[in-house]
Amino acid sequence: MDDAGRATTMIEVGEEVSIRRVAPESALADAMGGAARWEIPVDEHGFVALVDCMPRLVAAGQTADSAIVQAARVSYGQGTKKISEDRGLIRYLMRHRHSTPFEMVEFKFHVAMPVFVARQWIRHRTANVNEYSARYSIVPDRFWRPTVDSVRAQSKSNRQGGEEPIDAGTAERFLGLLDRAEENYREYLALTEQGVARELARAALPVSVFTEWYWKCDLHNILHFLSLRIDPHAQREIRVYAEAMYRLVKEIVPLTCEAFEDYRLHAMHLTRLEIEAIRTGAALDTENRREQAEWEEKRVRLGLEPTA
Ligand SMILES: Cc1cc2nc3c(=O)[nH]c(=O)nc-3n(C[C@H](O)[C@H](O)[C@H](O)COP(=O)(O)OP(=O)(O)OC[C@H]3O[C@@H](n4cnc5c(N)ncnc54)[C@H](O)[C@@H]3O)c2cc1C
Repeated sequence: MDDAGRATTMIEVGEEVSIRRVAPESALADAMGGAARWEIPVDEHGFVALVDCMPRLVAAGQTADSAIVQAARVSYGQGTKKISEDRGLIRYLMRHRHSTPFEMVEFKFHVAMPVFVARQWIRHRTANVNEYSARYSIVPDRFWRPTVDSVRAQSKSNRQGGEEPIDAGTAERFLGLLDRAEENYREYLALTEQGVARELARAALPVSVFTEWYWKCDLHNILHFLSLRIDPHAQREIRVYAEAMYRLVKEIVPLTCEAFEDYRLHAMHLTRLEIEAIRTGAALDTENRREQAEWEEKRVRLGLEPTA
């Protein structure tokens, strides 16, 4: 028995070296309920699958949130008794951006997505990534293809995106363009069979083709990724992956996700100028039109009258 009353066993592993194995205080359960993977399909060919997490074993009846409070309580020193319930502590950590305890939980995903989505995703540098190699293997015949109704028109106000559907004729024309890009696939296959190196032949494939990767990241950085990619400003085609990932993460760390929604996802940052405008009732002290437009959006959320 150790000081905490847990059963211990000494295992000899070499000359004068032994490992002290300590039994858990209570029975452990698999955080993923014994499953090999939890998968959510995305559109026609995509998916986000949770294939592993850390901690995988948690005290029966608890969730992986427990690893966060366990790490946070180390900072209070050995022997310090619990100062609050787990939920309260997690909410405190989230509100005050005490981020390292959230790095104690990790997730490993297997994802299939179009290359143009992967290009946005890979900008998140804090993950460990292993991608399907189109140098070693033939790229499978899977292409991103929207429906006629879901082809969006370029927004006039937001140069980065579009929300409204475009007319059916133009949408059909765009789908025709995608078809012609996909036609290259047959020639790609034929040329690899004729001996062209796969690493070169792939250059003729469009960015609508699918790729796959294993993506491992800690919870703190996943929440950062999700806050940027679930946001309505993110492109719809990556947003659907972020939303699927969030559904999986939420099952593993529900207390953290509740705090994330309350203090980050559905929260709002106010600038000094905006606080001043609320305090004095005056207009926002800037000539910048984009900043003014952002302020109007925030006013709506705050239930304030539009300024103009
Ligand atoms: C709506 C939207 C539009 C975008 N538009 C464009 C665009 O037009 N062009 C474009 O190029 N990109 C664009 N991006 C990508 C964006 O600029 C970021 O590169 C991407 O979101 C990754 O963010 P990040 O660096 O915070 O995340 P991560 O790379 O996951 O990093 C997380 C955090 O770790 C820290 N960190 C990681 N690496 C370093 C480092 N090397 N040095 C210092 N700190 C580090 C930072 O604090 C960072 O915030 C866009 C992103 C979004 C969400």
